[in-house]
Amino acid sequence: MRKLSEVLQDWEAVIGLEIHTELTTLDTKMFCNCKLSHDDEPNANVCPVCLGLPGALPVPNKRAIESIVKAGLATNCQIQKRSMFYRKHYFYPDMAKNFQTTQGPIAFCMHGHLNLEVAGQGAAERPECAFGDAEAASLASASAGATGLSTMKTADVTRVAGSSQGTYDTATGAGPVRHDDGSYTVPIRILRIHMEEDAAKMVHVGGEEGRIGGAAESLIDYNRCGTPLIELVTEPDLRTPEEARLFMEKLRRIFLTLGISDCSMEKGSMRCDGNVSLRRRGTSALGTKTELKNLNSFKALHDGLEYEICRQAEVLEEGGVIYQETRHWEPSRRRTVVMRVKETADDYRLFPDPDLAPFNLSDEFIEHCRAEIPELPDEKRARYEADFGLRRADAEQLAGDPAVSAFFEAAATGARDAASKAPVDKRVRTVANLVQNELQGYANALGGGATIADTGVAPAQLASLAVLLAEEAISSNQAHEVFGIMAETGDDPAKIVDERGMRQVSDDDALLPVVEQVIDSCPDQVQQYRDGNQKVIGYLVGQCMKASRGKGNPKRFNELLREKIG
Ligand code: ADP
Ligand code: MG
Ligand code: ZN
Repeated sequence: MRKLSEVLQDWEAVIGLEIHTELTTLDTKMFCNCKLSHDDEPNANVCPVCLGLPGALPVPNKRAIESIVKAGLATNCQIQKRSMFYRKHYFYPDMAKNFQTTQGPIAFCMHGHLNLEVAGQGAAERPECAFGDAEAASLASASAGATGLSTMKTADVTRVAGSSQGTYDTATGAGPVRHDDGSYTVPIRILRIHMEEDAAKMVHVGGEEGRIGGAAESLIDYNRCGTPLIELVTEPDLRTPEEARLFMEKLRRIFLTLGISDCSMEKGSMRCDGNVSLRRRGTSALGTKTELKNLNSFKALHDGLEYEICRQAEVLEEGGVIYQETRHWEPSRRRTVVMRVKETADDYRLFPDPDLAPFNLSDEFIEHCRAEIPELPDEKRARYEADFGLRRADAEQLAGDPAVSAFFEAAATGARDAASKAPVDKRVRTVANLVQNELQGYANALGGGATIADTGVAPAQLASLAVLLAEEAISSNQAHEVFGIMAETGDDPAKIVDERGMRQVSDDDALLPVVEQVIDSCPDQVQQYRDGNQKVIGYLVGQCMKASRGKGNPKRFNELLREKIG
């Protein structure tokens, strides 16, 4: 198989995502008041409604509707006041009613979009030739000062979304807009977000790999059955695996911030199917797509799509055809295998649910939802750049998770307001650094999906550690050590540093004798440096650190050595 970068020279990949998110933060299920919890004893949280017993009547969960309306507002969707539930029929024991309650052609949220910012290495996945006419067109429309779709009127969005071609670039003039640093912004349209319910969890025992084939028994846990689930479907606007990955990450940050789900891809509360087809560059008709399942991490989403694009290119180049089928990504073997060929809507006998009255959402209800939307990650990121002087990538990371951003803001404010001679912006940047590296690293090392709350470290403690580091009272190696002790003992960093005599020496009067001693004792290395070998300075700094028993300021040693030798 050819590499992705080669394939994308000749072929345009067309990708659309279907993203399911369980509303895990609600107390009860979608149509009954069973407790929402997957950790209890199997089948502890069930009732006639979610078991589908005859005569049981569903009642929609108002808070679930609030959650989906918030999701729609946060992704620029039009909220549909009038929509209804449908029955999607199938026979399988994971849904005892033999149908899933879902939505029909009109969902609560229709026709939204998110702007993706693609930077760094990932930006190179979209080849040069994919910025052609679309870019010119978008530059023309960008004179309004915005990136593509954000300037489009609602009516335009609807019209474009109705076109089955998904050629947003030529149809709207909104395409990728490239920036000077090689990054680009691209609008990705969202077709809809609809409300549905999850099915029960099935466990197949005694077979191979937990598959049903060959299993001796199949166990069913109906606790998950009836869990409120929202499904977001994008238009086929994504063009590279990196864009797909970034879309999913961005959506996850938004949903986390809204507080509607724990968004765990590991636990399956956020799941993604990737649809992908190829077409020759320069053509507009859509090719036949395959649908990838089991993309249960950001890496799997990227790598599964990358593999599938290369596989399809090989089939097509050899004169073969792509069949519309569902394929399973196997990360360990790095391949996709066929699961089943596609059912059509007719097979499901989709019809309006006679037990659930159509909705007529009021303006008050929608406005109430809007008022509850907190500051979203994009706005927060911009604020962190402006107020705290953070780099974009750092600001984005910190703004994405509400628990992390709350911690960061508290610690950054603490460090900023502390009495210290270190520059304020340096203190704040140090906080950002410690949160991303030490704090999150420590939480990850705890394992089992531990979060920063599980570290037991308080923002005020991290703020004082940041101040010590920004003042260069300790080195970053020492900061790592102090962080570990602080997390274990709960002690104040200044106390830890003093008790262990860790304070770093930055005073030239103390450092110079060490530097001179090292220069005298390493004539060979000093000569090498003079001959132009810059790297040898690292060795000399190491010698100084050794001579000062780890207490000298390595940065100052470096400067002094260069001054003395150079
Ligand atoms: P299905 O009926 O097979 O589920 P949909 O029309 O509902 O297909 O689309 C499902 C997802 O697949 C959407 O995200 C859509 O954007 C995407 N999609 C549709 N057609 C194509 C195609 N030819 N190539 C790539 N993605 C596509
Ligand atoms: Mg579908
Ligand atoms: Zn129930």
